[in-house]
Amino acid sequence: MSSIIQLLPDHVANQIAAGEVVQRPASVVKELLENAVDAKADDIKLIVKDAGKSLVQVIDNGVGMSPQDAKLCFARHATSKIRNAEDLFSLHTKGFRGEALASIAAIAHVEMKTRQSNEELGTHLIIEGSKFVSQDVAVLPQGTSFAIKNLFFNIPARRNFLKSDTVEFRHILDEFQRVAMAHPQIHFTMYHNGSEMFNLPASNLRQRIVGIFGGRTNEKLVPIAESTEIVSLEGFAGKPEFSKKNKGEQFFFVNDRFIKSGYLHHAVMAAYEGLLKEGCQPSYFIYLKVPPHSIDINIHPTKTEIKFDDEHALYAILRASVKHSLGQFSVSPVLDFER
Ligand code: ADP
Ligand code: MG
Repeated sequence: MSSIIQLLPDHVANQIAAGEVVQRPASVVKELLENAVDAKADDIKLIVKDAGKSLVQVIDNGVGMSPQDAKLCFARHATSKIRNAEDLFSLHTKGFRGEALASIAAIAHVEMKTRQSNEELGTHLIIEGSKFVSQDVAVLPQGTSFAIKNLFFNIPARRNFLKSDTVEFRHILDEFQRVAMAHPQIHFTMYHNGSEMFNLPASNLRQRIVGIFGGRTNEKLVPIAESTEIVSLEGFAGKPEFSKKNKGEQFFFVNDRFIKSGYLHHAVMAAYEGLLKEGCQPSYFIYLKVPPHSIDINIHPTKTEIKFDDEHALYAILRASVKHSLGQFSVSPVLDFER
């Protein structure tokens, strides 16, 4: 009797995996921006055409890749960021799954240019639908550029499922803003259809938030600062009188990674208790630093949900700290707290 089970070829496995990692152009934006951050770039450009449907390009001035790595980075589970399972508990990088580039290359046309600082020449590589088209030596600036074209060219159902440019662009903006907010020390620029949307010079947290949400945000921010053994907190809570009817700008970052957490949101809302007008939502920008071993980031491919060891303690500290900041503000409204 012969066996009917077969291992899927790599390009098919990659295409299936891509469904999880790449839902829309914004997913590509997120993965490429995070790779640029992990490559220690201090200058990152995002170029988008037609809400990412025609082009998503990220150019960084980071460490670049060797000619060998330039090819290997498209293999599945190929990563320079972790070596073994223990490393999962001491993560200092955005990526670690080694899946993004393999997935993206399986469902798009990818052109990559990369050069390491100690090399005179770089690598220019083209891969389309997991097939290597060309790899050449080229004169290039230091760092890496990934240009992703024709996303979902080989999955028409996915392509047709994409929303209007307005909606897809909104998702891209969200991802860009989240990464830019997590890394105020990096210079970010963003272009859409040839016009500059953002130019955010390297600065501090307050300036970065103001750079993204506009000059009038500045006076609305009350600083938060707290340091305990299990978490250090910084960031800003929006003054209650600036809360909005439907939804404020609400952000949590854990170890420089944007996350969603209904539980932590609840803690913040508890701190605002009695301060908000009926049905209003505050804005907040809260950055938590916790020991890497006390969280599990590996529960979701997009890594926007994480598990904390000591959720209850975190809740209590967050609530107390935000409450304290808001209280302090109402006693002494003249706060000139530059960070
Ligand atoms: P991960 O980020 O989880 O490691 P990716 O598929 O996103 O997986 O990237 C694979 C590898 O390619 C990375 O581990 C890194 O070594 C390399 N790489 C990707 N993007 C860049 C970049 N912009 N600059 C330098 N190296 C990169
Ligand atoms: Mg990555």
